[in-house]
Amino acid sequence: MASTIPSKLYAGIEAGGTKFNCVIGTDPRTILRRTKIATTTPEETLAAVKDWFVQQSLELGALSALGIACFGPLDLKPSSLRYGYITATPKAHWSNTEIAGYFQRHFGIPVGFDTDVNGSALGEHLYGAAKDIDDFVYVTIGTGVGAGVFVNGRPLTGMVHPELGHIRLPRDAAADSFNGSCAFHGDCLEGLVSGPALEARWNCSAASLPQEHPAWDLEAHYLALMCVNIAMSYSPQRIILGGGVMDQSHLFTAIRAKFAQLMSGYMLPDMALEEFIVAPGLTGFSGEVGALALAMNAE
Ligand code: ADP
Ligand code: ZN
Repeated sequence: MASTIPSKLYAGIEAGGTKFNCVIGTDPRTILRRTKIATTTPEETLAAVKDWFVQQSLELGALSALGIACFGPLDLKPSSLRYGYITATPKAHWSNTEIAGYFQRHFGIPVGFDTDVNGSALGEHLYGAAKDIDDFVYVTIGTGVGAGVFVNGRPLTGMVHPELGHIRLPRDAAADSFNGSCAFHGDCLEGLVSGPALEARWNCSAASLPQEHPAWDLEAHYLALMCVNIAMSYSPQRIILGGGVMDQSHLFTAIRAKFAQLMSGYMLPDMALEEFIVAPGLTGFSGEVGALALAMNAE
């Protein structure tokens, strides 16, 4: 009698500053259950996430592995006593919070743990805009600015992990008097281009700024400077720009044009810029796809 082998079940958590997006799937593209749990305090949120997975597992079966793509900064050094923790974060209540170990102890299954942007980058690498490309950078420009840098098909880590959102860019104070919104650095990249930075600078919601507003020319200027620094630093084959602010799709054309100007003919990529600076292939889903891929990689 033919028997079917039941598919393994993988759990994924895209842990963000506003919500924890939790999914269960048989692979990164086949999601059986999903829910969103608000990010309040670690005690409340982690317990609610754990309880949801316990409940689903009672109905669906045992979970094989869990992947967590988490807001940071994180301790990702396996040898560190604080591996799997969120370290010093501006997010109230969440500094020095153990994440990976909390779930590992409870479920006793392998747990993959990485930054939210590395999770999204992994999703894009497997199924999205970086499919078949091993060297690329995924940047999200939203509430904050973060980047996953992939080199030889793997996320780049180091002492911590790249924090590209906080690089410093030249700002001409005569042309741009906004001092920036980053709590740590003022006018770092995130302090100049994030959604909250746009809102503080122009005193209205970023989404309501019309396409012809000078906000977007300045935004494209800073994002083009960022792309130059990324191209010069990592020599990627592609730069993927995602996040809520990039819903302004007209920015892509402006960023590519300013990028070409700033590069001044130096080290321009072989391919057309439309293929070098691109939108995500999995808009809105790369995080949960990446979290499930982290689970499968951890097994
Ligand atoms: P998060 O960073 O919290 O994961 P998003 O990537 O969706 O979430 O980013 C949210 C930010 O993006 C908000 O600060 C908002 O101002 C900005 N944003 C959302 N939609 C738009 C839009 N259509 N145009 C410009 N900015 C937007
Ligand atoms: Zn900063």
